[in-house]
Amino acid sequence: MHLRNRSQAVRDRDIKVYRPRSLNGLLRLYSLDPDALLYAGGTAIALRAAAGRERPFRLPPRLIMLGNVPELGRITRTPRHLDIGAGVTLGRALSTGRNVLPAVLAQAIASVGTPPVRNLGTIGGNLCAGREDGGAVPSALAVLDGQVELRSAAGARWVRAWLAEPRRGEVLTRVRIPMEEWQAQGFRRLASGLTLAAAARLGRGALETLHFCLAGSDFGLLRSRELEDSLKNARLPLAPRARQGFLRELEERLTIPGLGSYARATAVRLAGWFLDRLDEAGPG
Ligand SMILES: Cc1cc2nc3c(=O)[nH]c(=O)nc-3n(C[C@H](O)[C@H](O)[C@H](O)COP(=O)(O)OP(=O)(O)OC[C@H]3O[C@@H](n4cnc5c(N)ncnc54)[C@H](O)[C@@H]3O)c2cc1C
Repeated sequence: MHLRNRSQAVRDRDIKVYRPRSLNGLLRLYSLDPDALLYAGGTAIALRAAAGRERPFRLPPRLIMLGNVPELGRITRTPRHLDIGAGVTLGRALSTGRNVLPAVLAQAIASVGTPPVRNLGTIGGNLCAGREDGGAVPSALAVLDGQVELRSAAGARWVRAWLAEPRRGEVLTRVRIPMEEWQAQGFRRLASGLTLAAAARLGRGALETLHFCLAGSDFGLLRSRELEDSLKNARLPLAPRARQGFLRELEERLTIPGLGSYARATAVRLAGWFLDRLDEAGPG
């Protein structure tokens, strides 16, 4: 096969494993073989395999390992944003970024799996793996207005991090998080997978900006600018009317086929929990 000379390829019976050593090499290789499976930490692939009916699970015939691509392993920071390479493991993002990661993202990352899973699993793999686990990291990135870079041999584009769905031949290369100050941040993830991520800017006794995202396997991700803006510049502590209006509106938006009344009520309770935190954080 003509790809053989283009990268270090290892034959393992009928599986070929490619280990590109640069981003350009990876993009070239993937453009020639877009049906190959990109393999980062392999933890979501393993989970998918365990859930499938295929026994024993067979890997696709061609794998492209991302672990040797230095560009994917970088964490860089400028005054305006933090860039995390797609191949950075969740564990490394937590330890390296401890003082720079916004709290809501650090808590979301810490909620993924167990330490061994986080030591293998990457942030790029997490965003490309689908939402079966409730979307902890995507929901945190949603409230932070995070973006991801998707690259192919043909070019690059930036999209919202929580909508990261690489097209054929595209690789997620890095996650970009704006460095902004948030006076209140909150993250909760329940055993059911229902997740709340939120961040707020407070000033002069009022709620200046609220970013708020709920995630669940039944409904995906819910973030509504309209709902957030309904509390814009509201005085703190929130007036009971403003608070109840927000929660009622949220409940209506959660009237989604397949989402039971218990899950809906739980989501509204989570939202109430964050509003309580705002009252505590505000000058009151
Ligand atoms: C026991 C266990 C518990 C888990 N618990 C959780 C949990 O609580 N929450 C959660 O969200 N996840 C969980 N996971 C899933 C998984 O560990 C994480 O989502 C992890 O971050 C995936 O990263 P990875 O590097 O292992 O991805 P991989 O398994 O290597 O890849 C996942 C998918 O993304 C694609 N991909 C990977 N990197 C890129 C890239 N740079 N560009 C384009 N496509 C790419 C791969 O082709 C594959 O389709 C769990 C997994 C296990 C085994």
